[in-house]
Amino acid sequence: RRAAFAALRSEPPVTRDGDRITLLVNAGLRDDAAALDLTGADGIGLFRTEFQFLVSSTLPSRERQQRLYREVLDVAGDRPVVFRTVDIGGDKALPYLATGDHEEENPAMGWRALRLALTREGLMKAQARALIEAAAGRTLRVMFPMVSEPWEFEQARELFERQRDWVASRGRKLPLEILYGAMLEVPALAETLDLLFPRLDFLSIGTNDLTQFLFAADRAHPQLALRYDWLSPAILRFLRRVVRATRDAGIPVTVCGEMGGRSLEAMALLGLGIDRLSITPAAVGPIKAMIHSLDRAAITATMERMLAAPPADMRAALTAWASDNGV
Ligand code: PEP
Ligand code: MG
Repeated sequence: RRAAFAALRSEPPVTRDGDRITLLVNAGLRDDAAALDLTGADGIGLFRTEFQFLVSSTLPSRERQQRLYREVLDVAGDRPVVFRTVDIGGDKALPYLATGDHEEENPAMGWRALRLALTREGLMKAQARALIEAAAGRTLRVMFPMVSEPWEFEQARELFERQRDWVASRGRKLPLEILYGAMLEVPALAETLDLLFPRLDFLSIGTNDLTQFLFAADRAHPQLALRYDWLSPAILRFLRRVVRATRDAGIPVTVCGEMGGRSLEAMALLGLGIDRLSITPAAVGPIKAMIHSLDRAAITATMERMLAAPPADMRAALTAWASDNGV
């Protein structure tokens, strides 16, 4: 099977009825960028910039950050790279970064990601400048993690725009353009998407955190890991609503959580109208094989039917459908 997946490398992910799906990879370190060539993916849909911070024993300097971002962009060439600003704090605490002496009881819901970055402005400014200078002469795509309300996105975007002006004032070369995205992983944001859309270039759904917050279930807890299913009506209906809203607004939407890297789940996502998946590199071959075997119109009708009157066991029903339909 590995050899079969490798043979798919240069084949585009197209469904049986001709829909071109965009398959991107999740990455976090410079060497991960090599996955682009190994898998034949369309780009990097989620570059987790905090990895560099997590493997370092001191705060990475702006120069070091910039070097990493430029190397990744060089490897990617014409393929897009979406840089996510640091998602640190909470359970990804950095020993060298003082985050106050409050012991967090619920670090996943704590002072992390964009919440931390908007308070520790120096950190965010350095990263913004590193990204802007690294992307000189190219398109820069940035996205902010854990956006809960539109003002947080707005504030982060403004911080980046100010750094862009600063870089320009020094006579340095700028990115051709900066595209700004938000991660949808806090359910509350779904209720205010209409307020966000006018300022937003793209949306990316982080189903790892989204699931944990929708079900109020710790994503790392072994007792809960098997209890809540990505293929539950609650999640699928939620995602369907978001997909419809983005479609009406003409905003591209990607799923970048682990859900998209599993065949049955990815099949369901395509049935909900998701055209873009960012997944772990090892999943590209299997997901592409699934896409090749799938009739998009058929899964779309099936998801519509199953979500109108959900079967008691959604996973079993979708497994049976896949096997009956040669997926
Ligand atoms: C997510 O939450 O789904 C996500 C992609 O981000 P991370 O797994 O890095 O929290
Ligand atoms: Mg997340």
